[in-house]
Amino acid sequence: MLLRHTPAESPVDRQALTINPAKTCQPIGAMYAALGVHNCMPHSHGSQGCCSYHRSMLTRHYKEPVMAATSAFTEGASVFGGQANLVEALQNIFTVYNPDVVAIHTTCLSETIGDDIKQISGKAIETGKVPEGKVVLLANTPSYVGSHVTGFSTMVKGMVDGLSTATAETKLDVLNLIPGYVEPSDMEELKRLTGLLGVKTIMFPDTSSVLNGPMTGKFSMYPTGGTTIEELRATGDSRATVALGPLASTAAATALEKKCQVPPTILELPIGLTATDKFIDTVRRLAGVDVPELINQERGQLLDVMTDMHQYTYGRKVAIAGDPDHIVSLVDFLVTLDMQPIHIVSGTPGKATEQRLQESLKKIGRPVNIKIPGDLYQLHQWIQQEPVDLIIGGTHCKYFARDEDIPLLRFGFPIVDRIGHQYFPNVGYKGGLRLLEKILNIIMDRQDRDAPEESFELVM
Ligand code: SF4
Repeated sequence: MLLRHTPAESPVDRQALTINPAKTCQPIGAMYAALGVHNCMPHSHGSQGCCSYHRSMLTRHYKEPVMAATSAFTEGASVFGGQANLVEALQNIFTVYNPDVVAIHTTCLSETIGDDIKQISGKAIETGKVPEGKVVLLANTPSYVGSHVTGFSTMVKGMVDGLSTATAETKLDVLNLIPGYVEPSDMEELKRLTGLLGVKTIMFPDTSSVLNGPMTGKFSMYPTGGTTIEELRATGDSRATVALGPLASTAAATALEKKCQVPPTILELPIGLTATDKFIDTVRRLAGVDVPELINQERGQLLDVMTDMHQYTYGRKVAIAGDPDHIVSLVDFLVTLDMQPIHIVSGTPGKATEQRLQESLKKIGRPVNIKIPGDLYQLHQWIQQEPVDLIIGGTHCKYFARDEDIPLLRFGFPIVDRIGHQYFPNVGYKGGLRLLEKILNIIMDRQDRDAPEESFELVM
């Protein structure tokens, strides 16, 4: 028992202490978003340790090298401010690594000492440290608030603040698509779906072909993927924005509306049948197109498996740890499958998430444990009090999943002990089908493992 010291009940009601957090820090999300810009070098304004940690988490999750620079604070910068470090860093990065964009995010340390990255980068531009035509994007991401999701959101808004421009008198026949904090494979799938609908889109950020690229045998500092500077500028001329995942994408979508009068539609992540229906219908309506037969067929296939295999999902209890935008859509999907998500935590704060979850969970007709922000220690305690059939969450859940002998479906961030999330989507009907296949295989494998000889089934 790896976590044998976790009691089923706490002797005190914990208010301020987090044990085994269900989130990571803001700059990781900011770095991930920056990698979705073509020819972009993410830059961490803080100490080397922060940058190494953020890079290593992303590298472990994606099994790809993740490039990023750092202001490399020492004691001097920590006391007197990091202006000199950042100005010199910008000069070095553009000279040595020649990116089109440097996306700067702050850390706990630089925020605590009060470094003003807008003023510092302005000084670097004024003094010629940023070459003509190159761009600097900014995001304030102190990690004592929010999580990797809010860091992602702030950097995506930084793209709008730094680049989006309205130039055309009338808006162009293009939709902006902000994908939310999802995997490169999900971004690929969203582009495939809008392509099938025949809709021109600008997706930003876009980490597909950046963090799931092929082995070519050649090193490239900047992979082929990512949204280009020109595309980011053009987002101000698009007809509308579809922003997926309210927490991760609303800030950028509303900033774009304010700056360039591009009207936003905010949707939940298209994970599962209903949320994907809403996404397809919104894009169809905004672009004035018909849904092609292939998309209807994919929808029908998902629905077919949902109904064919309903006896395996019905009434199954689930415990979930994840990011707000993910768990809202996931819980909705599980409830559609007649499953029972009964213990839910997210490390990212947000009252709206809890209210939205309660709305979906009304249908299961029983009390449910929800803690937002909550931690994995709490989730483990709840599982000890009322066991579940399935745990859904990141790799850190594997310790209590093993202790309690409950199968774990890896979902969300980080996943550092399995592969697949980079290449196979969870969004769209195809993604829903894959998710359902994984849920069913886990449940059926467990049934095979535990069935007594007389009811060990050949056909299931
Ligand atoms: S929590 Fe703060 S200090 Fe720690 S790695 Fe993240 S940014 Fe750095």
